[in-house]
Amino acid sequence: MSAEHASIAATRAPTCWSCGKPVEAGAPFCAACQAVQPPGQMDHFARLGLTRGYAVDLAALDRAYFGLQRQLHPDRFARKPPRERAISQQQAAALNEAYETLKNPIRRARYLAAELGVDLPGDGRTIDDPELLMEAMEAREALTEAGSAAEVQALE
Ligand SMILES: [Zn+2]
Repeated sequence: MSAEHASIAATRAPTCWSCGKPVEAGAPFCAACQAVQPPGQMDHFARLGLTRGYAVDLAALDRAYFGLQRQLHPDRFARKPPRERAISQQQAAALNEAYETLKNPIRRARYLAAELGVDLPGDGRTIDDPELLMEAMEAREALTEAGSAAEVQALE
């Protein structure tokens, strides 16, 4: 599974669209010219710098998300050329998608299962695996304690 993801990452030829210099695969910005880079096809975990797996450090998830979100804030691109603005919006959308998926225990479980070719029941339906449900509830409690909703509101 992880080898497969590594080979997908390796087939990308990461060079900066703006200055043509090599960029680190998955890096949102070019180290040479600071231009924002297209989000590309990237694993949600990799995008947020997390280890793949159901057990997610929600504090680390929040830190990674809010850190990247600040760097991709539309205000930072207000005076940039249209192409750079458009790419920054793609990055922000990909980042939000990754965050929304990983912070929600049910969506996270479904995402991991889908990559393994397992189709879990849809949102709003009962997951009839008590162990998974238990884990999901524990993760949700931890998320509530982390107060990330309040942090999101504060930032908005
Ligand atoms: Zn560059």
